[in-house]
Amino acid sequence: MAVDDDVDVLPDRDAAKGFYAKYEPKEVLGRGGCSVVRRCIEKETGQQYAAKIIDLSDSSDEGVYEATKREIEVLRMVAGHPYIIELHDVFESSTFIFLVFELCEHGELFDHLTTVVTLSEKKTKVIMRQLFEALAHVHGKGIVHRDLKPENILLDDNYNIKLTDFGFAKVLPPGETLTELCGTPGYLAPELLRCNMMEGAPGYAHQVDLWACGVIMYTLLVGCPPFWHRKQMVMIRNIMEGKYSFNTPEWEDITDTPKDLISKLLVVEPAQRISVQEALTHDFFQILPLMMCLF
Ligand code: ADP
Ligand code: MG
Repeated sequence: MAVDDDVDVLPDRDAAKGFYAKYEPKEVLGRGGCSVVRRCIEKETGQQYAAKIIDLSDSSDEGVYEATKREIEVLRMVAGHPYIIELHDVFESSTFIFLVFELCEHGELFDHLTTVVTLSEKKTKVIMRQLFEALAHVHGKGIVHRDLKPENILLDDNYNIKLTDFGFAKVLPPGETLTELCGTPGYLAPELLRCNMMEGAPGYAHQVDLWACGVIMYTLLVGCPPFWHRKQMVMIRNIMEGKYSFNTPEWEDITDTPKDLISKLLVVEPAQRISVQEALTHDFFQILPLMMCLF
């Protein structure tokens, strides 16, 4: 066996008898820092699921275990929404935790976008509306996701979204703020960067997720992210200054309404940024009533 294959070795059967008694693991669907996600089949029903297998022995400290427990707690708090991933089952041993999720047949929005390069305004509207509905549910529970990006938005068999990866999500009581640096560079909000780079800058809250939605929406429409630069420090400076543009040729054929929504999401000052409820009532999502279309 090649050394590289080592990471794919299935966990010791004794370590998680419960999981293997109920499920038949299949191929790898994706992987993260300390986890591998595999398709699996529930033996009794023949139903397919996605099992996130988290290796606790990989890390010497308690961090991964505690973080996974928090992720499970958040997943249970946000359960029952059509656009949020459903946690079906959990198994725990001393070395592994198995999170069994509903399977998203069409994988990541990220991979879908890589294939199609850009989405039409109409398709972007459907995806963004579902994302804001999911986010309204998350924020309504006082939770901030902190890692919104196309890799963490999955597509089910009908191409409806399922928001996933609540690994960085946090319950944030009203009025409280966070300072921790976490997320993915291209999607980080200016206030999150500011409180990590500048002495005395205030913390951040739920608004960081709306910023990430702006980055996602921009990327869906033109296939490239708004602040990207090959030098990460330049990208970070662009983010903190809110320096992006609609001046490239790809934007010429795009109407003003989606641009207006993006410009209300990519606002440097979090207090002036649109909220998730405001985003849902933006003109971009208003459809003419059927009666009006008939005349
Ligand atoms: P991490 O916290 O390690 O990033 P994720 O929960 O984001 O873990 O899962 C990693 C990847 O595994 C996803 O980006 C996706 O490609 C795949 N994946 C996760 N859950 C599912 C699922 N329910 N259905 C299909 N693929 C999945
Ligand atoms: Mg992820």
